Amino acid sequence: MSSNELSVKFWGVRGSYPVPGKETNHFGGNTSCLEIRANGHIVILDAGTGIINLGNKLVKEMKQNGNSVKNPMNIHLFFSHTHHDHIQGLPFFAPAYFENCTLNFYGPKSFSHSLHDILANTMESHFSPIELDELNSKINIHDLNESDNFSFSKNSPTPIITRGNGGDTVKSKDLIVSLMRNYAHPKIGTFVVKAEMNGKSIVYATDTEGYIGGDTRLTDFSQNANLLIHDAQYDVHQYSQMQGFGHSTYEMAANVAQAANVEKLVLFHHDPGHDDARLTEMETKAKACFANTAMAYEGLELTF
Ligand SMILES: [Zn+2]
Ligand SMILES: [Zn+2]
Repeated sequence: MSSNELSVKFWGVRGSYPVPGKETNHFGGNTSCLEIRANGHIVILDAGTGIINLGNKLVKEMKQNGNSVKNPMNIHLFFSHTHHDHIQGLPFFAPAYFENCTLNFYGPKSFSHSLHDILANTMESHFSPIELDELNSKINIHDLNESDNFSFSKNSPTPIITRGNGGDTVKSKDLIVSLMRNYAHPKIGTFVVKAEMNGKSIVYATDTEGYIGGDTRLTDFSQNANLLIHDAQYDVHQYSQMQGFGHSTYEMAANVAQAANVEKLVLFHHDPGHDDARLTEMETKAKACFANTAMAYEGLELTF
């Protein structure tokens, strides 16, 4: 991949909980995790169990690159939110155990807890043999605000963080990461994340429930994106039982893709109850709503 390209690889595509087994072998059973590469940077979206295989690959890369304490591998991990299926791989993310690695976490705080405290609580000794603050890697933690923009230039391992609407980010040669606060997910909401470079863009909208007529804020945020990755956990029959759970149907995802004039739609956060046969059937129906649609599967890699 040339450093002018924006690429994304899917390491975990499942919602709620992991479902290993032969019925889910094609699409994969690991929970949410994506790897974005651009401008020489490594940006990870969510730390479901998919991050475990990604971490093993990154350790190999670290060894090949000869990373050291003085020249660490810098990894930037954005959390859409902190539900289990978006954090449960973190204690098993191998780079976290290497001094040669700097981990930068970006995610939501709550009224009463910082992101550090939220993550540290999940790795407290009752739940984990190794606590967050005992990990060998250097860890920097940033509480996200909706108006934060991150500009990753070629020459710096850390982004410049600014506040505001981001201005004319679209033509930037830097990798720009920006956010939309999404309220259509129970209790804590989520962050929708956009990665842009050289006029190309990828939008990651997981754990969101659509609205009748489409989510207009998300439509604006995703306008003309090359890729929209959208929650599509349910089919329409399931949705009638699950309204308010904070997930979408493929029709809802297609409505946003259409209205936002995106190039490609990838359906994500598959229901753990849907096996490969069911997802293949849903994919065919979804293509009838928006032609350039694909179901996310582990190993899918797209470059723009
Ligand atoms: Zn989820
Ligand atoms: Zn969730």
